[in-house]
Amino acid sequence: MIKRLALATENPHKVREFSDLLGPHGWEVIASTGIVFPEETGTTFTDNAYEKAKTVCLATGMPALADDSGIVIDALGGAPGVYSARYAGLTHGSRDEIDRANIKKVLDAMQGRTDRTARFVCALVCTFPDHTMLTAEGTVEGTIANESHGSHGFGYDPIFVLPDGRTMAELTSEEKHQISHRSRAVQHLIAQLAARQ
Ligand code: IMP
Repeated sequence: MIKRLALATENPHKVREFSDLLGPHGWEVIASTGIVFPEETGTTFTDNAYEKAKTVCLATGMPALADDSGIVIDALGGAPGVYSARYAGLTHGSRDEIDRANIKKVLDAMQGRTDRTARFVCALVCTFPDHTMLTAEGTVEGTIANESHGSHGFGYDPIFVLPDGRTMAELTSEEKHQISHRSRAVQHLIAQLAARQ
């Protein structure tokens, strides 16, 4: 039986990643359109994901899945963190323009720094019409490059260096799914979804 989850994002990259990750486990992911999401005012990734999931669950009457994710850079005191999507202050423009501005701000802030450790974090919250919820988190560790490399993925992928020396943007989508913060969070969620049935 196909089970459906309404996904609390309009980001086509995330819709594709979640479809790829959840599809093989029998979950069909439905992108939400026309839903006005609340401002992301939470101080944690989980708080923000919860607000988004709750909004979509109420609007659709379906189980809803939201993620909030970002990059945490130790030398910047954890920034951009929950502000990853709007770190450079750009709210208008194409996704590519926003990504490029965010990357430039990180590279400028990291210039001359030798402590370059960072991680991607993904918090997932799944809310159900019966008001129950599940949460899961995944992380992937890396370092910040001195310049962008690679053309796959999105966001900060071109400056996030993995232990094998490649940036996340130099991985194919299949390779990214093996190790990403999002896929790790999804694995934790799937175990809980299976236990709920
Ligand atoms: P949100 O989770 O949609 O609020 O935004 C998270 C932001 O963090 C994105 O706009 C990206 O800038 C960044 N981010 C989250 N996940 C990834 C990823 O897998 N690769 C690169 N950047 C990411």
